Amino acid sequence: MTLLRALMVEDSEDDAILVQEVLRSGGYDPRVHRVETEADLRHALHAGPWDIILSDYMLPAFDARGALDLIRTSGLGIPAIVISGTVGEDVAIETLKLGADDYVLKQNLTRLVPAVARALDLAESRRQQNRLEHMKTLILENSLDLICTLDTQGCFLEVSAAAQAVLGYAPAELMGICLETLIHPDASSSFQHEFQAVLQGQRMRDFECRFRHKAGRDVYLTWSAVLSADHSVIVGVGRDVTERKQAEQRIRYLATHDGLTDLPNRNLIQDRIQQAIAHARRADRQLAVLFLDLDRFKVINDGYGHPFGDLVLKTAAERLVSLVRESDTVARQGGDEFLILLTDLRRADDAYVVAREIVEKLGQPALMVQEREIHVTGSIGVAVFPQDGDSADALIGNADVAMYRAKHLGRNTCQFFTRAMSEETQRRVNLETGLHDAVALNQLELVYQPMVSLTSGRITGCEALLRWRHPELGLVPPAQFIPIAEDSGLIVPIGDWVLHTACTQARAWHDAGLQPITVAVNLSARQFLQQDVVSWVTSTLRTTGLPPGLLELELTESLIAQDVEHVITTFGRLRDAGVKLSIDDFGTGYSSLGYLKRFPADTLKIDQSFVRDMLTDPEDATIVRAVIALAHNLEFKVVAEGVETEQHCRFLRDNGCDEIQGNCFSGPIPAAVFEAVLRSGKRLSG
Ligand code: C2E
Ligand code: MG
Ligand code: MG
Repeated sequence: MTLLRALMVEDSEDDAILVQEVLRSGGYDPRVHRVETEADLRHALHAGPWDIILSDYMLPAFDARGALDLIRTSGLGIPAIVISGTVGEDVAIETLKLGADDYVLKQNLTRLVPAVARALDLAESRRQQNRLEHMKTLILENSLDLICTLDTQGCFLEVSAAAQAVLGYAPAELMGICLETLIHPDASSSFQHEFQAVLQGQRMRDFECRFRHKAGRDVYLTWSAVLSADHSVIVGVGRDVTERKQAEQRIRYLATHDGLTDLPNRNLIQDRIQQAIAHARRADRQLAVLFLDLDRFKVINDGYGHPFGDLVLKTAAERLVSLVRESDTVARQGGDEFLILLTDLRRADDAYVVAREIVEKLGQPALMVQEREIHVTGSIGVAVFPQDGDSADALIGNADVAMYRAKHLGRNTCQFFTRAMSEETQRRVNLETGLHDAVALNQLELVYQPMVSLTSGRITGCEALLRWRHPELGLVPPAQFIPIAEDSGLIVPIGDWVLHTACTQARAWHDAGLQPITVAVNLSARQFLQQDVVSWVTSTLRTTGLPPGLLELELTESLIAQDVEHVITTFGRLRDAGVKLSIDDFGTGYSSLGYLKRFPADTLKIDQSFVRDMLTDPEDATIVRAVIALAHNLEFKVVAEGVETEQHCRFLRDNGCDEIQGNCFSGPIPAAVFEAVLRSGKRLSG
C-alpha cells in the first residue's frame, strides 16, 4: 500500500468516505484531512506535507476555482484533482486552465486511481524541473567559466555572469552580440572553422582561443561546445586559462631571456652569434663578441643589499643597450657579466671603438638608482671572428679571457684577446686558489714606505704595503692579488691581518721610544662597505694599544665616489675616534670637487700617475698645482706619491706640497730596515 496524504476540499462526509474507499481499493493507504471553507484550506495547506489535493467543484461556501487559486499561489506545487458531479465540458476545461491536473466525475470514480497516479507523476517531474532550473540559475550566476547559448549565427542568447569577470562585459551587454566579435583577429579564422564543425554536429572540445577583454588585454579561453538536439542553439563553456597561458609564455620567454634585465640570455646570444658567423662568412665581414664585467659589483651588492644591486644591474643594462646599434645584441651572461655582439664590422678596429665608448660612457654620467648616484665601471674583453675563434663558444670564452686581462690591468678598460692571455688566465686561477691559504700559511708580509716632509726633510710617517711571498711565484705585488681578494671576499680576513700587524708594529716603535710615526693602512672598498669599519678599527686599536692618532686610513677616491653620504658619516665617526684619514690616488676617481669640502679627511695623496709626468706634461703639472692649492684651501695636508727624482721633489716643494713618498727617498722596506733608517736620522736632501 502506498501512503497517500490527501487534503480534501469537500462538504459531504459520505462522498469523502467513498473516495477513500476507491483509493484504498486502488492500492493507496489514504490519510485524509477534510476542509470546507477557504480559511480552513489556507491553514491546512501549510500544515502539510500533502501528496495531493482532491477538491469538490462546488461547496456551500466555496468552490474549486477559489481552491485552485489558493493552491497555485501557495507555490507548494501540490497536484490537484477536481472531483465533481456532472458539469459541462466548459467547466472541466476551465478548472484545468486554473491549474488542476485532472477532472474526475463522482459518477465515474474508476478514473480516480489512474488520475491520482498520473498527477503524482506529473508533480514529481515538475519538482525535478524546478530543481534543475534552480541549479541552472546557480551555475549561471556563480560559475567561473563563461557558459552561454548561441544561435546558429554565433550570437549570444544567454550568457553566464562570468562574462563580466572574464571578458569585462555584463551579460546584458552581450545579448545579440556575436561571439566572434570578441575574438582576437588572429584567432578568428580557426574559430570559424571550429564553429562550423559544431554546426555539422561535431563536438568542440578544449579548443583554445584568444579573446580580447573589453579593457583591451588578451584573454585565453578553452571552449567546449555542442549543438542542441533540435539544432537550434549551441551550448558552450569557455574556461579562462589566461594565467596558465601567461605562465607558459613566461617560461618560454625565460628560456631565451634574462628575467631581471629583459635582455637576451646566454642561450639566445649564442644562437645569434652562430647566425652572425654564418652571415659574416658569406658577406666576408667580421664580428666581435664583447665580454663585459662590472668592476667591483660585489661591493655594491654587499654594501647596499641584493635588491639594490639588482636595480643597478637593470639600469646598467639599459645604459649598455643605449650605447650600441639596434642591430647589435646585448645579453646578460649572468651575475654582473654581459655579452655584446657587434655584427657587420668592416675592420676589427671598429670593435675597439665601440668597446672604448662603452667603457667611457657606462658610468658617465653616473647611473641614478633610487636617487643615488652610482658610479659603475666595467672591464671589457673583445674577441673577433674569424681570428679569435670560429664558434660562439670559442669567441665568448676568449672574450672572457681578455676581460680578465682588462681587470688585471686596472679595470675600467678594454682588451683584445691574444693567445698569451690564456696562460694569464691560468695564472690568475692559480693565484686565487693559493690566496685562500695565504694568511694561515703566514705568506703575507708588510713593508713600510716612509713619508717625508718637504720642509724639514724628516720622516713623518709610513705607509704599510702588503706583499705576498708565494712559495713558487715569489713576491706577488698587491696589484695582482688585491683585486682577486676583493672579488672573492678574502679581502676581509686579509685586511684584518694587515691592520692588526701594522698597528702592532707601530705600537712597538712607539714603545721603543722612537719619534712618533703615523702608520698609514690601505682599506679597500669592499672592507669599507661590508664591515662595521668603525668598531673594527677601534677594537683593533684597543687590542694593539696603539694611540688612535698614530693610525691613518687610506681610502681611494673611487671608493668615496661610490657612496658619498655613507663615506662621509663613517669618516666622521672614525675621526671622532681620533683616527686620521687620507684620500688616496686623488685625481683618478670621480669624486666631484664639490663633495671634497664635506669630507672630514686630513690628507690628500696625489696619484703617482700625475707626479710621474708632471715635469714633461704641462697638463699634469697644472693638475698637480691645482690639487695642492685646492687641498690647502680645504686645510688638507698634501702628499705626492711615486716621487722618484730630485727634480720631482723640487717641483713639488716649489709648489707648496707638504710631503712626498717615493723611491727618491726610499721604496717600501721591511720593518727592521725602516727602524734602522729612522734611527739613523736620514733626511731628504735638497
Ligand atoms: P697605493 O696605496 O697608492 O700605494 C702606493 C704604491 O706606489 C705602492 O705600490 C708603492 O710601492 C708604489 N710606489 C711608491 N713609491 C714609488 C715610486 O717612487 N715609484 C713607483 N713607480 N711606485 C712607487 P704597491 O706596494 O705595489 O701597492 C699598490 C697598491 O696596492 C696600493 O696603492 C694600494 O692601493 C694597494 N695595497 C697595498 N697594500 C694594501 C693593503 O694592505 N690593503 C689594501 N686594501 N690595498 C693595498
Ligand atoms: Mg695607499
Ligand atoms: Mg696611492
